[in-house]
Amino acid sequence: MLSIRNLHAAVDGKEILKGIDLEIKPGEVHAIMGPNGSGKSTLSAVLAGNEAYEVTEGDILLDGENLLEKETEERARDGIFLAFQYPVEIPGVSNLQFLRTAVNAMRVHRGLDELSAVDFMKLAKETTKQVDLDPAFLKRGVNEGFSGGEKKRNEILQALLLEPRLAILDETDSGLDIDALKVVADGVNALRSPERAILMVTHYQRLLNHIVPDFVHVLAGGRIVKSGGRELALELEERGYGWLGIKDSDEV
Ligand code: ADP
Ligand code: MG
Ligand code: MG
Repeated sequence: MLSIRNLHAAVDGKEILKGIDLEIKPGEVHAIMGPNGSGKSTLSAVLAGNEAYEVTEGDILLDGENLLEKETEERARDGIFLAFQYPVEIPGVSNLQFLRTAVNAMRVHRGLDELSAVDFMKLAKETTKQVDLDPAFLKRGVNEGFSGGEKKRNEILQALLLEPRLAILDETDSGLDIDALKVVADGVNALRSPERAILMVTHYQRLLNHIVPDFVHVLAGGRIVKSGGRELALELEERGYGWLGIKDSDEV
């Protein structure tokens, strides 16, 4: 479904990703781990099509199509979801309106009927409960005064409603207390489906106690230096990154 081949990417002329190879199949959950500054967020941003990052070599194929030729919006319509893609506050636009517009645009793109205001409200209310948000949350302005935990829950809410083919969740665990971590993990687990792949980018092993990944990859210095199953995450928790020849902070 997603093929990343020899991906090199630079920002401000500085090479950050130095040859990434990754194959992701439908239904799989891949965790990307690695020390701070190793290029994890850069990889997410490049997949989503963030224009600050320049791909200097390599290919990314989604369902056999060249993703690199597509703009961010087109990638989103093709089913790539990056949490925190829309972090800005939009005063005067309620979360409900915002989500309904996004969901209906996606449905039209997929050849489905738009949801009526009533039907969308029903769906949105059910989904807010799934991520332990009060439905009153839908009436608030987009991202207006959301706490860290609410932002995270909102990301999962967006993903559940948009039903992406590939959900990229970057550092979904940062700034979460244990309860919120569990809620986000439950939400991610709810996102799992045989047609959907999930790429979890995390600095912390603890999130993977709740979300059992199929594959774990360690990114360091802009390269995948080790791949394995979930046991690799457990090993990292016990032994840190040192045994892989990586310092705890391995900036590119
Ligand atoms: P991680 O998510 O693994 O912590 P990042 O991908 O955020 O790592 O960063 C990798 C390296 O790229 C770091 O050295 C960081 O300073 C640099 N970098 C990332 N984004 C930018 C940017 N927009 N401008 C300048 N440097 C950047
Ligand atoms: Mg970082
Ligand atoms: Mg990061």
